[in-house]
Amino acid sequence: MKKDQILRCLREEDEKQLESLWQSADKVRRETVGDAVHLRGLIEFSNYCVRQCGYCGLRAERTDLPRYRMTQDEILDCARRAREFGYGTVVLQSGEDWGIKADWLAETIRAIKQETSLAVTLSVGERNEDEYRLWKQAGADRYLLRFETSNPELYARIHPNRGKTISDRLAILKLLRTLGYEIGSGVMIGIPGQTFDDLANDIALFAELDLDMIGVGPFIPHPETPLANEPLTQDQVPNTEAMTYKVVALTRLVCPQANIPSTTALATLNLAQGRELGLSRGANVIMPNLTPVQYRASYEIYPSKACIKETAEQCRHCLKKRIESIGRTVGIGPGPRQSARKP
Ligand code: SAH
Repeated sequence: MKKDQILRCLREEDEKQLESLWQSADKVRRETVGDAVHLRGLIEFSNYCVRQCGYCGLRAERTDLPRYRMTQDEILDCARRAREFGYGTVVLQSGEDWGIKADWLAETIRAIKQETSLAVTLSVGERNEDEYRLWKQAGADRYLLRFETSNPELYARIHPNRGKTISDRLAILKLLRTLGYEIGSGVMIGIPGQTFDDLANDIALFAELDLDMIGVGPFIPHPETPLANEPLTQDQVPNTEAMTYKVVALTRLVCPQANIPSTTALATLNLAQGRELGLSRGANVIMPNLTPVQYRASYEIYPSKACIKETAEQCRHCLKKRIESIGRTVGIGPGPRQSARKP
């Protein structure tokens, strides 16, 4: 797909045209990754963060937010639940917490791998090459690191460097791939200052990077962050549900083989139907929350997150019902990327 075609679809308002976009994306999804919806159990294991991202409620400056870091035993308990629930993957996610020592996380990964056959995905932000290598050797399979926006100026504004270290997530993604990880990335939709042209470039970049996983969700302003009060730009992308479906569908069309989640941020905008509509318009993955309930409210990257009060058990039943209600099946096994990467 050429960029001007992507742009046209992003601006499309005609219901009939949109319906045909949903159908094309759904058809490609069915033909490439099939009907199985893979479940990746999300363990939000620490909300400490050294960064000052303008969009995120975990940013270091938020001294009012109670901070927690789960123990190895607590994390292992969550992994056991994932196995018991039939999930194929656990995702270990956290703020950029330099209190998490590389060896400790390596040991945690090893313990999960020893006890379960789950795939392990890491999403712990920007660390160094030795650490990424250590975790890969410990058995980690995948790494999620969203580049958030392909516009370098917008990125620098919303995601300031940490001290003198330049934040170059695209370089890190390349490094992670050479280390043998499956790599996932993605962007937020409707960041203040993001234009339609920026978003079209983001989608084109997904294809160029040949990503294994792509997560896209609406930007949800957190009142305790700078971005909640930023002015919008001319030609601003709206942070709406409708725009999110367009991006999910286009992402499927440009990256037919990728694993694409129907995200919690999308479900937050439409609790009743968001997950299902995402799945019907290109997505094939859901990330049910396994974080113990007592920590969930503190992992407040944005406010009013969907499913914050449900236990892991409730999430599991609710999601299974939702998946089956639209004629899809729950995926079995880790659900890796389906086919070869580009040469
Ligand atoms: N510290 C890790 C994990 C961050 S949370 C990292 O930086 O990679 C995962 C994703 O949540 C982020 O990459 C971002 O795209 C998304 N996110 C953060 N704040 C958000 C907000 N206010 N609205 C929507 N999505 C948000």
